[in-house]
Amino acid sequence: MTEIIEIPYIAGDGTGEDIWNASKEPLEEAVIKAYGGDKRISWIEMLAGEKALEKTGKLIPEETLDTIRRYKTVIKGPLTTPVGGGYRSINVYLRQIFDLYVCVRPIRYFKGLPSPLKRPEKIDMVILRENTEDLYKGIEWKAWTDEAKKVIKFLGEEMGVSLSEDYAIGVKPISKPGTVRFTRWGIDYAIKNKRRSITVVHKGNIMKYTEGGFRDWAYEVAGEYRDYISFSGEEGKILFNDRIADNMFMQAILRPGDYDVLLCPNLNGDYLSDACAGLIGGLGVAPGANIGDNVAIFEPTHGSAPKYAGKDVINPISFLQSAAMMFSYMGLDRASTILTTAIEDTVNEGIMTYDLARQMEGIVPVRCSEFGMEVAKRIKGL
Ligand code: NAP
Repeated sequence: MTEIIEIPYIAGDGTGEDIWNASKEPLEEAVIKAYGGDKRISWIEMLAGEKALEKTGKLIPEETLDTIRRYKTVIKGPLTTPVGGGYRSINVYLRQIFDLYVCVRPIRYFKGLPSPLKRPEKIDMVILRENTEDLYKGIEWKAWTDEAKKVIKFLGEEMGVSLSEDYAIGVKPISKPGTVRFTRWGIDYAIKNKRRSITVVHKGNIMKYTEGGFRDWAYEVAGEYRDYISFSGEEGKILFNDRIADNMFMQAILRPGDYDVLLCPNLNGDYLSDACAGLIGGLGVAPGANIGDNVAIFEPTHGSAPKYAGKDVINPISFLQSAAMMFSYMGLDRASTILTTAIEDTVNEGIMTYDLARQMEGIVPVRCSEFGMEVAKRIKGL
């Protein structure tokens, strides 16, 4: 009897719909191929973002949150946050309410991708970004508001910090418990996935107690894993080290092969993952996942790229690869491998959307939907 695997999805705003339409068939075919038709996907649509606002008057309807709670593993396209829509960002909101404290962003080169580097084949990094703390907590006050003035007054009167009233103020909270659970997750991930090294990426030289704390607490946790981790490069163990964030950006470009798992506070991870995506062709190929102890939401690194919405030109690889990550997470490893192989074969044969084609000589770009069809065709032919 065929096993039906129910997967809830949010198609997403802007180009989300284009990407979803192109991706559905290859995802379904990958599961059919992997299990000889014994397993099939049944999709459950969830509303969020602009579509949800139009249909229900809410950016995130309660029903969507309930479905995520019930199914625990879901995939979503990018969401636009309408200005003045009530949330700072729906994406940040989802990460916070489901406590998705790890953002996993693999940056892996495969043959056929354009890269500005001479030897891109060495690029195989996984950026782990803490997802719930740091400046993304969203604690900030606009300049000249009563709140900002109150904080400035408190800083002056109670803390001996003198600031004029012209400042907007932001707070950067990084906690030990938050850093500890994130680091544990990262080390467990590195052990399970047989990774070579873990590098803490911080700016502790300047922000001594927030980013410096992050670094120190990460080392403390690493110290509990002596059977697996070495601080000096012992053979057979995972090397644990750290780099100051600005240096790490240079290292990622000049010596990406020396780096493997990167453990980052929220903002560093955000910047670094987009920059590193540029090393393997751009945001169109960079997948991601937001993972907590109960819920996992898989989503591309990129946003809704509204200027391309409905034009059927955008690259669906990031979404497809996020789905491949989801398949692995769900124990559907064979489907994940089949999907990844088909994406790589397609690109390697010079079939690619505008974003990659414009970085190459003599490649005529295919449409988003055509790319999806080509991937599906290769899956069927595997
Ligand atoms: P963006 O949507 O990621 O797009 C920035 C640029 O990246 C695009 O103009 C395009 O570059 C390239 N790009 C992005 N996705 C691509 C793809 N699939 N294929 C090829 N190229 C791709 O960033 P944004 O314009 O700053 O943000 C737009 C909206 O998305 C905002 O409302 C933002 O809040 C939201 N957003 C959502 C998420 C999420 O849902 N997780 C994440 C980030 C941003 P070219 O113009 O050079 O072709």
